Amino acid sequence: MKRVYNFSAGPSMLPMQVLEKAANDMCCYGESGMSVMEMSHRSPEYDAIIKEAEALLREIMEIPDNYKVLFLQGGASTQFAAVPLNLMNKNGKADYILSGQFSTKAYKEAQKYGDVVAAASGKDVNFSVIPETTRESFRADADYVHICFNNTIYGTKFNYIPDTGDIPLVADMSSCIISEPVDVSKFGLIYAGAQKNMAPAGLTLVIVREDLIGNADEKTPAMLDYKLMADNDSMYNTPPCYCIYVAKLVYEWIKELGGLTEMKKLNEKKAALLYDYLDSQDYYIAPVKKESRSMMNVTFVTGDADLDKKFASEASAAGLKNLKGHRSVGGMRASIYNAMPYEGVEALVAFMKKFADENPKA
Ligand SMILES: *Cc1c(COP(=O)(O)O)cnc(C)c1O
Repeated sequence: MKRVYNFSAGPSMLPMQVLEKAANDMCCYGESGMSVMEMSHRSPEYDAIIKEAEALLREIMEIPDNYKVLFLQGGASTQFAAVPLNLMNKNGKADYILSGQFSTKAYKEAQKYGDVVAAASGKDVNFSVIPETTRESFRADADYVHICFNNTIYGTKFNYIPDTGDIPLVADMSSCIISEPVDVSKFGLIYAGAQKNMAPAGLTLVIVREDLIGNADEKTPAMLDYKLMADNDSMYNTPPCYCIYVAKLVYEWIKELGGLTEMKKLNEKKAALLYDYLDSQDYYIAPVKKESRSMMNVTFVTGDADLDKKFASEASAAGLKNLKGHRSVGGMRASIYNAMPYEGVEALVAFMKKFADENPKA
């Protein structure tokens, strides 16, 4: 069967080269005589895989030495609780920027554990633009500031890194991790569910500055304690072994491609093709303000709910899958993560033109 172009927001496409490599290793990995799925996480073969995954990620993201890399489970949503439990430990305060649904969920979860306020919010403009902030937006005694760097549902992204002074900045990067270079040293902690841009579902990545860990609330479940996980090299218990192995293949693929600078160029080229088309016509409307546009998730509507529905179903029949927008916002969303080839976006734009011609608005 022919592979489709899968525009799903997550779980989402993986690079063909990665899938083929994984298929090739499926039954027998190297000289082990077994698949990676069947291996003890304490075996020398697996130890080499997880160490190589970490080394490659450190290399492509240029992660400074004073940061720990943790391969965890529970999804980004578990981090909504783990972050306050581990970091809200000096003054019991944290400031959140609300830029969409996930940041709002993170904010509500954190409120269970301390004095948590919204320092800025885009809710009144339906999250169509990222709120502007200055250092004065944040309480000087906040233990951290939390942002969601790329908003998967609305298709917005921070085009700046908030200036928080000495307050550690925590970022949910689930839907933009390894899509472009980021200066890790500007963040106290970065976390990401892997299933958008890195690996199959089941792996959560945490990159955390060493000095921020070791002071978790005493009621913190062991599984959420960064210090415990760091001291055990992500092997306090069984890690998501197979996902980490696929992540390693993805990191290798990016390295071979020329690293994150090259990855960014490819992603910019894909996003520009779609946004340039959206800006050149008036059949489809892109609701996000230009300065806040995401390179990974592109949202658009026809302005007519029935046409939107028809669009998603006809696109699906044409091999362009999962273009229906998130159930909370409607319309369409094209998630064009690292693994989406340029040809996939070309096919989408060609389909959009055809659909507009064939379905004039009343
Ligand atoms: C998908 C997503 C989440 C939720 O991730 P889970 O791994 O399903 O918990 C959180 N934040 C962002 C930005 C996401 O895109």
